[in-house]
Amino acid sequence: MAKVRFTETALRDAHQSLLATRMRTRDMIPIAEEMDKVGYFSVEAWGGATFDTCIRYLNEDPWERLRQLKSEFNHTPIQMLLRGQNLVGYKHYPDDIVTKFVEKSYENGVDVFRIFDALNDIRNMEKAIKVAKDQGAHVQGTISYTISPVHTLDDFVNLAKDLEALDCDSVAIKDMAGLITPTAAYDLVSKLKEETDLLVDLHCHCTSGMTPISYYAACQAGVDILDTSISPLAWGTSQPPTESMVAALQGTPFDTGLDLKLLTVIKKYFDDIKEKYLSILDPISESVDTDVLLYQIPGGMLSNLISQLKEQNALDRYEDVLDEMPRVRKDMGYPPLVTPTSQIVGIQSVMNVLGGERYKTVSNEVKEYMKGMYGKSPAPVDPEISKRIIGDDEVITCRPADLLEPGFDKYKTEGMEEGFVKTDEDALTYALYPPIAPKFLKGEAEEEELKPAHTIDESEGIGIPTEYSVEVDGDVFDVKIMPTGFIDIGVQNQDVGEIEGAVISSMQGMVIKLNVNVGDNVEEGDTIGVVEAMKMENDVQAEWSGTVEEIFVEPGDAVSIGDALMVIK
Ligand code: MN
Repeated sequence: MAKVRFTETALRDAHQSLLATRMRTRDMIPIAEEMDKVGYFSVEAWGGATFDTCIRYLNEDPWERLRQLKSEFNHTPIQMLLRGQNLVGYKHYPDDIVTKFVEKSYENGVDVFRIFDALNDIRNMEKAIKVAKDQGAHVQGTISYTISPVHTLDDFVNLAKDLEALDCDSVAIKDMAGLITPTAAYDLVSKLKEETDLLVDLHCHCTSGMTPISYYAACQAGVDILDTSISPLAWGTSQPPTESMVAALQGTPFDTGLDLKLLTVIKKYFDDIKEKYLSILDPISESVDTDVLLYQIPGGMLSNLISQLKEQNALDRYEDVLDEMPRVRKDMGYPPLVTPTSQIVGIQSVMNVLGGERYKTVSNEVKEYMKGMYGKSPAPVDPEISKRIIGDDEVITCRPADLLEPGFDKYKTEGMEEGFVKTDEDALTYALYPPIAPKFLKGEAEEEELKPAHTIDESEGIGIPTEYSVEVDGDVFDVKIMPTGFIDIGVQNQDVGEIEGAVISSMQGMVIKLNVNVGDNVEEGDTIGVVEAMKMENDVQAEWSGTVEEIFVEPGDAVSIGDALMVIK
């Protein structure tokens, strides 16, 4: 038995799972030198949701973060999580963008590429794998682990063999929701070691509470690498704690040889970081949730789902949404729940619950999924639901990216003409996030404010004082005020009750596209615009025919539930 090595996730998955991916580069750099001394297999520090969050909320250039980290980590490989053909976005990009992105990621500092596809469709991974191999990187192919009536041990082993045939150096078992049992971990790792020559990495979240036991079982089966996080950012929807796992394996054949004293220095640093980000940390994501065994929601998704329900003022429907998720997943042929399928299934479940009727509102992503544009679903999709969503539209069976036109040059030229794209990296940022990148690249984005931990979250309602002390001539009287009537204070941007023919936003989000101008005639059912909510794009349809008389919003505007978008009469 060889010693087991660790991938430290504090700088990517751990804060993505617990802190909505909000850790700033300036909070990573001061501890990088110490982390570099530990002797990790790698530090996972880039990719996943970090790219999106950098430009959307932190006003940080993700490429600059990568370069800064690279200059600090001289001994430890930097690892990124790459969503196959989705890169760090939520849809497939054409091959030329995938190629350029992987090349530039390597050039700016990524040493280890963990490449996965949400459907385990290898056609969505092969391009990124090939380009990363061509750069000389360590390429880790991935099994998105899930449990369903259609997934078997042999399917996972066969996928690993296919990944080995593509020249991957290692394989990760990506257990997003912490579903793998000790026995399943033992069986899968044993079989992978038996039937492939790949290094095997087990990546789990602690959501269900079983993970440290599963990690030990994996050690007994010969696992090579385990993913852990320094303890202040461990447990819950994050990884098992690095120090505890090091201690647990000391004196066993799996001893990591890592220095607990050095890890304690790093732990102390992240204790303070955690304190700083406490307002973002939701207690739900830090605790064990055995419900995950039913709902299968991955670490990052759970904290995002909660914050998105809060945004929609619907946190009270949390349980209903959790109940709806397995039904939607079944309708869609049991996709593993990981980005982007976790968002697609999660948000569709939110819409099914909040919309009052299943599939009344359907995101464009679900429509695309039903057309096969995300790849082959593990089991066939429910034919009736599919028909309801896409009618008789053609369903593709080819490799989805084969249908995409090259796009890099178009974005680069366009961005340079507009003046906000200066480098290939900028062009990639733009190509990946056309709705939000221009604002960031123009320097018009602002860093989201980090609230002190004690302030009241507005979405939870600010307490209105009802008990007062009244002083009259030096005597203090306690009075209690109770409401006996209300005045109506408008809370919406447009008082929609007064606008005849107003088209109302049914969700909180951002307008990313308008298809009509004032004066245009529209037919009932026409798509008049697109609102991005919860990272999904949703067509806004005209509910009646008429003429566009007035438009209140433009692309880039944030809208709330009930806001009037335009008037059609
Ligand atoms: Mn993860």
